[in-house]
Amino acid sequence: MRSFPEAARGELANVQLRTNLRAATDTIRAKRARVVGEVPDWEELREAGRAIKADVLAHLDEYLLQFEAAFRAAGGVVHWARDADEANAIVVEIARSHGADEVVKVKSLTTDEIRLNDALETAGIHALETDFAELILQLDGDWPSHILVPAIHRNRAEIRDLFARTIAPGIDSDDPHVLAEAARIFLRERFLTAGVGVSGANFAVAETGTLCVVESEGNGRMCTTLPPVLVTVLGIEKLVPRFADLQVFLQLLPRSATGERMNPYTSLWTGVSDGDGPQELHVVLLDNGRTRVLRDEIGRQALACIRCSACLNVCPVYTRTGGHAYGSVYPGPIGAILTPQLRGIENASSLPFASSLCGACYEVCPVKIDIPAVLVHLRGQVRAPLRERSLMRAVAWMLGGRRRFEFAQRLARATQRLAAPRAWTETRDLKSIPAESFRSWWRRSRG
Ligand code: SF4
Repeated sequence: MRSFPEAARGELANVQLRTNLRAATDTIRAKRARVVGEVPDWEELREAGRAIKADVLAHLDEYLLQFEAAFRAAGGVVHWARDADEANAIVVEIARSHGADEVVKVKSLTTDEIRLNDALETAGIHALETDFAELILQLDGDWPSHILVPAIHRNRAEIRDLFARTIAPGIDSDDPHVLAEAARIFLRERFLTAGVGVSGANFAVAETGTLCVVESEGNGRMCTTLPPVLVTVLGIEKLVPRFADLQVFLQLLPRSATGERMNPYTSLWTGVSDGDGPQELHVVLLDNGRTRVLRDEIGRQALACIRCSACLNVCPVYTRTGGHAYGSVYPGPIGAILTPQLRGIENASSLPFASSLCGACYEVCPVKIDIPAVLVHLRGQVRAPLRERSLMRAVAWMLGGRRRFEFAQRLARATQRLAAPRAWTETRDLKSIPAESFRSWWRRSRG
């Protein structure tokens, strides 16, 4: 994985990306502020969301077993996967056992995290993304740069040209209705003939074994109801204890995500019903580093994330670099704390530094994840380069004695013009050191 500064440098030079990001995030941010402002008990809702998630993380083992029992009792099959390879193998095996050479997919960050599409392709099974933006990216071999608006970096003319080359030869308009209709015609047939559907889930209810997907286009509902077999890959942190808890999150999520009072499609399914929807239902409970994150009392709050992306839209770093610079399916502030924990800090050590620590992410987070605190906590785990460590040791020694400190002041005063560090002062002003220290002025003025 390239370091964040290295990856960001290239993205910052992309003017179109910055223009698209600016327009999209400004719009979503304003919509969010408007609909959140309408809710008099928004802070209480946030606190309720935080408390429910904290309870889930504190008792995850119990809730997982409760969910497993309820899901089985409703007629579903439960699989446990320690990592991406195990999860992928389970989904491949289910698809193979039904002779599927194509599965239809609901947009799912969890399946992107484990690179399920690649695993299916390797097994000769095509995974067709049915979310409009995900379809665009798949057709062009591109990857998402925003949690909710994956193709935020693409514009309409590009999409028209892409469709003309792939699913809609002859299309010559970049009108959104025309583009959406082309995708609809292409997808409808595939929904009706697919033998296996694959989804993630936004929430899973421990007491009832219910799964819940929220989305804007209706493609998710097609995937979860039309194919006779449905497999849902669920990160184990997605549980909520009670069905009634959904009322908290179904208010918090759409307002924080797309700035809507309610998302257009909320699909809930509990087990199998004769003659209605999939007749074979699987859930894959995915760990993939989550139990390791759970051990860290400060870092574990990242697992409370409901993937609304509000923190991305307010982040001064994300809104300039976009999502690709984060090298993960989880971009922005949440990515900066989740990816290093899931992959191991040694594999993503630059991400906790991809923040100005302004705190805007914390202010908008619907479940009150203290992202700045986790960033600082993770920074403390990164081993600084030798030069920086030596410098800090020297500073500590110098500050450890009055005479040494005063000598350093005099030295700095005399040499400040020569010694100004170039990389630092290229983008910042270095305040000059006063001609006299406060202590010496005090002594002098008192005679
Ligand atoms: S960290 Fe909070 S604001 Fe960011 S995506 Fe997750 S829930 Fe939303």
